Amino acid sequence: MQILKTKNDLQKIQGDTKLAFVPTMGALHEGHLSLVKIAQSYAKKVIVSIFVNPTQFGPNEDLSKYPRTIEDDIKKLESLNVDFLFLPDASELYPQGLEITHFANKELSEALCGLNRPGHFDGVCTVVYKLFDLIKPDYAIFGQKDYQQLLIIKDMVKTEQIMLEIIEAEIFREADGLAMSSRNIYLSPEQRLIAPKLNKALKSVAQGKQSIDEAKLDLISLGFELDYLETRRNRVFVAAKLGSTRLIDNISLSAMIPLLNN
Ligand code: AMP
Repeated sequence: MQILKTKNDLQKIQGDTKLAFVPTMGALHEGHLSLVKIAQSYAKKVIVSIFVNPTQFGPNEDLSKYPRTIEDDIKKLESLNVDFLFLPDASELYPQGLEITHFANKELSEALCGLNRPGHFDGVCTVVYKLFDLIKPDYAIFGQKDYQQLLIIKDMVKTEQIMLEIIEAEIFREADGLAMSSRNIYLSPEQRLIAPKLNKALKSVAQGKQSIDEAKLDLISLGFELDYLETRRNRVFVAAKLGSTRLIDNISLSAMIPLLNN
């Protein structure tokens, strides 16, 4: 695997083979690796980026504490035969300082995570636009784990007329249903046992076994500090804190229909 750090390095790899891109913030887990495998099914060459983007973190969020496991990440990507890792310094992506240059669609960004994380999606759009512009991939793979982000990126690609195809990846979960996340390592052993209840709540709402209000009360009684639990666009979305760890998850209502018929 070739490790690239600069715009110049990137220019050297742009050729005539199709390129699929997986943007990440590192601390890689099986969920990220499932995106890499999808990328490999779309294009001959795959590039992964690892960059903890400062502009998408709020002032009281976990930027400085965000897990960084670069040696391990490199081993995982090498074991999958990834072609390129883009590992830029902040000065490479933000030569003029940490400015927001791209804003998320307001209608999509003001709800759900946008309410408690003002400016978060503008930071995401800014960095993703820069990465697309530098890397010029044919495909970019995003996880449904961050469903709102996925919709916002798709909207940006459309409005900015960026020439690439966004591919969606299903949520990769632990055996007990907990959606994989780099932040799961913050959970204490006790919290780790409670965390899968978030997914259980989504399922019971989607299957009509519990109302949103009942599920909210259950989660609160388990110790979750609820940010939101709501249905939108045929999906149920949840965000909640367990201690200081913020977890998100979502589930499609239509994916539940076969279960409802049983
Ligand atoms: P992150 O490193 O958390 O910014 O995530 C990078 C990409 O991986 C995003 O497109 C996420 O949606 C995706 N991702 C993270 N966790 C999962 C998961 N459990 N299943 C599928 N995709 C994921």
